[in-house]
Amino acid sequence: MTTRYPHIFSPLKIGRQTVQNRILMGSMHTGLEDVEDAGDRLSAYFVERVKGGVGMIITGGIAPNRVAGSGAKLSEPSEVPMHRQVTDAVHAANPDCKICMQILHTGPLAYTPDCVAPSAIKSRIGSFVPKELDEDGIEEQIAAFANCAVLAKEAGYDGVEIIGSAGYLISTFLVERTNRRTDRWGGSWENRMRFAVEVVRRVRAAVGPEFILIFRIAAMDMLQGGLAWEEVVELAQALEAEGVDVISTHFCWHESFVPTIATMVPRAAFAQVTGRLRKHLNIPVITSNRINMPDVAEAVLARGDADLVSMARPMLADAELVKKAREGREDEINTCIGCNQACLDHTFSGKLTTCLVNARAGRETELNFSPVEAAKRIAVVGAGPAGLAFATIAAERGHKVTLFDAGSEIGGQFNLAKRIPGKEEFYETLRYFRRMIDVHGVELRLDTRVDADALRSQGFDEVVVATGISPRTPALPGIDHPKAVSYIDVIRGKASVGRKVAIMGAGGIGFDVAELITHAGTSAALDVNIFAKEWGIDFENHPRGGVTGVEPQVAANDREVTLLQRKPTAVGRNLGRTTGWTHRLTLQRRGVGMVAGVEYTGIDDQGLHTVVNGEPQLFEADTVIICAGQEPERSLFDALAESGISTHLIGGAYEAAELDAKRAIRQASELAAVI
Ligand code: FAD
Ligand code: NAP
Ligand code: SF4
Repeated sequence: MTTRYPHIFSPLKIGRQTVQNRILMGSMHTGLEDVEDAGDRLSAYFVERVKGGVGMIITGGIAPNRVAGSGAKLSEPSEVPMHRQVTDAVHAANPDCKICMQILHTGPLAYTPDCVAPSAIKSRIGSFVPKELDEDGIEEQIAAFANCAVLAKEAGYDGVEIIGSAGYLISTFLVERTNRRTDRWGGSWENRMRFAVEVVRRVRAAVGPEFILIFRIAAMDMLQGGLAWEEVVELAQALEAEGVDVISTHFCWHESFVPTIATMVPRAAFAQVTGRLRKHLNIPVITSNRINMPDVAEAVLARGDADLVSMARPMLADAELVKKAREGREDEINTCIGCNQACLDHTFSGKLTTCLVNARAGRETELNFSPVEAAKRIAVVGAGPAGLAFATIAAERGHKVTLFDAGSEIGGQFNLAKRIPGKEEFYETLRYFRRMIDVHGVELRLDTRVDADALRSQGFDEVVVATGISPRTPALPGIDHPKAVSYIDVIRGKASVGRKVAIMGAGGIGFDVAELITHAGTSAALDVNIFAKEWGIDFENHPRGGVTGVEPQVAANDREVTLLQRKPTAVGRNLGRTTGWTHRLTLQRRGVGMVAGVEYTGIDDQGLHTVVNGEPQLFEADTVIICAGQEPERSLFDALAESGISTHLIGGAYEAAELDAKRAIRQASELAAVI
């Protein structure tokens, strides 16, 4: 078969084995490792991705001993069978697909008071001050890596990946700020890299030459005072000399203040760093971070930036990504939008990982869309994310679905979200749904506002109401003043916005609006040079960590903007757990004021009147933008209640408070699975 992706679909020898294509599913902790039926659920989860065409899988991180992390570990023979179930299932699905287990020693980030590190330095994001390892302790940790690798081999894995980046144990030996030792494990660079090299030497000796050995290195750790470029190169070369088969490049240190995978990071932004490292090595290298579509992966490979491309979250969003690329169906790919809302945000909150755009991810044993025996005629009202997800899944199962929307295009509020700089990936979700409407034969009726009578007269068996929300308009003196405008009009460009702006409401939409009106020029998500400037990264000269001494440069904007909320808690606290900080920091750097604990008293020619800390305070403003949350739009549902038609309510229309697209799509998918 000819392919648009000749580089992706060419086999590659790694060590003594061969992978069938250049896309691997990168390591993600899903939480499935820790559930009671872990073997069944992980098998189902991985097998779907194997059938979907990935060449190689790296599992979520598994701890080599109890101090290495609080999640799943592999240090005893009794822990082997669960892993054996997974590797057997993967190899049965495709004997050519390789599965490697990641060995993750989280070091000072382990959630245990017994956590260990080269020096007793608490990580900013760690929970405990780690215990400084003595010589025996270091030997114990190295032995644990080797033991874990041997058990992984017994469990049927084709190899292991050792993670030596991100602020986990191995990486904390490498950099001076976390390694203050003066013995042979600290001080000089030669001493700081000793632990990594020794771990690899001992693992290779323990597992023999056939077993794939991957080492994940921080090629740019984004840490002030992090690794120098020469150190990165020397470390990779030393690891190659010790028998590592593949170097996987990582761009992360969890404490750093540079976003590396969030949606505002340009696609494949960091692959150029892998490309530089690749020139110094004779073994294959893997690149990663925000590579979410096959054309991006193909371009990276064609440029010679990497031998393999790691896609982690994109495999949650669409298990069949590789297969669809091979079959020329890339327009059917459900693209990862980099939101982190259902994957990393869940991981860091102790919830099971899933995906905003694909509610089945991680739930393969419990949420299935089986063909129906008797097709029903179903009306879906509202083509926002909830209506779209429901309509396309129900039609895929065999129902006859008609989808109505009052607007002239599908997408609902996603048509506003996609206009926010840094949220361009939302266009992909709309492209995906547009294509699914065609593929599954949903009858789409745009520009059609339906009411209960119209639905009744058409004889549907079921009606699904996904009519979304209405923006909340607070009862406030002066709310009708010409200065007061709705976020919808601002985002659509229908309201002019002055120089001095007060934003009432600092939820997700308040922040997005602040981003939009303080943004100048091209979105950083679309231009890696602008992104580098905004976040203070020097790709060319690669100072320590890629960032040391580089000041972020904020594009000029002359607006004076204040974000306000009534709650006394820190502004922006409820934003995404792993991405909220990027929005707060960006706006702070642009000089946006943030005020909590505000009582609004009125809007007039002067601006927004409030009471803060018991004192009247005027926020002089040319424009007051109302971002005060949303109310469910249920008028149609209420009108249908008496009609006798079986009616369901989903998405924002069901619950607008704190609603997000994740919940809307999940609720729609769950209903579509059973209707
Ligand atoms: P909606 O998207 O509101 O869609 C409802 C649809 O119903 C509309 O298209 C409307 O025209 C149609 N409709 C209503 N009544 C009728 C009728 N009688 N007849 C026909 N059609 C009708 N969520 C996130 O999770 N992450 C984000 O990053 C994010 N960013 C956002 C940024 C912005 C600027 C905005 C505005 C929202 C954002 N959201 C985000 C929220 C997300 O868009 C909503 O949670 C989601 O759109 C809700 O989906 P829904 O299908 O329930 O409703
Ligand atoms: P939201 O997150 O619920 O925020 C609403 C804001 O309005 C809050 O600041 C709230 O804070 C304020 N508010 C509520 N009632 C008010 C009233 N009567 N008068 C004045 N202020 C009032 O809702 P949203 O910002 O409208 O966003 C809608 C949904 O889209 C949310 O679920 C959000 O998660 C989602 N979204 C997500 C993202 C994202 O990046 N993940 C981005 C955009 C939107 P106080 O009550 O303290 O004033
Ligand atoms: Fe990608 Fe968002 Fe899904 Fe995570 S939740 S996999 S970031 S689309």
